[in-house]
Amino acid sequence: MNEKDLTTGRYSRFIVLPSIGVEGMKKIRRARVSIVGAGGLGSVTATQLTALGVGYLRLIDKDVVELSNLQRQMLYREKDVGKSKVQAAKKFLEYLNPDVEIKIIQEEITTKNVELVTDNVDFVIDALDRFTPRFAINKKCLEKDLPFLFGAVSGLTGNAMTVVRGSTCIECLFGHVDDKTLPVSSITGIHPSIIQLIGSLQVAEATRVMLKEEPLLINSLLFIDIGSMLFETLNIKSKSNCSNVKYH
Ligand SMILES: [Zn+2]
Repeated sequence: MNEKDLTTGRYSRFIVLPSIGVEGMKKIRRARVSIVGAGGLGSVTATQLTALGVGYLRLIDKDVVELSNLQRQMLYREKDVGKSKVQAAKKFLEYLNPDVEIKIIQEEITTKNVELVTDNVDFVIDALDRFTPRFAINKKCLEKDLPFLFGAVSGLTGNAMTVVRGSTCIECLFGHVDDKTLPVSSITGIHPSIIQLIGSLQVAEATRVMLKEEPLLINSLLFIDIGSMLFETLNIKSKSNCSNVKYH
């Protein structure tokens, strides 16, 4: 980065933050992240991380864009309906910031191919809407000692928590959840505001991870309900029967 970059360049309003600075920006430019899910939370986190200049961003999703996505998934335009989400997203993100290396994978993540998410990155952002792949990624991140930034939204409510080795994990918290019993967004609805809030907080945590600072949502589940403007954090303890207990 030259002198112009620091004062008037693309990242100047970020570098000037006392918590970032030139050294912080260099760390961000070197950071490598996977975002699993290119829906609502994926739209927020991928857009913000691309704009602020993360070095490498891998976006993973098997779906195509549907008209009903456009109310909240800001990566997409009406002309993208029927096309691959990750291909449309890549075009948008490269247009936003060509400094960022964008890689896409159009696959469904299962317990068998979870390393598509975790290989050769520094941390993972959870932008999924199902628990089966979330549990598998949570486990693999603990095995590989990668921070895993959990986020989930439904209706007017959302949750966020950060999992690192030594902390409680998503299985401790939601190990009983079965995807078959979960309500889907076509039934519950989803407000774009809760997605923007939770996704933005995941990026705030991602910034701390990239700067090698301790994340703030370790062992701490943030719950937000925009129906009552309730914001609270709950202290979460590890469970002795969690299958990841050796990492807690
Ligand atoms: Zn656990």
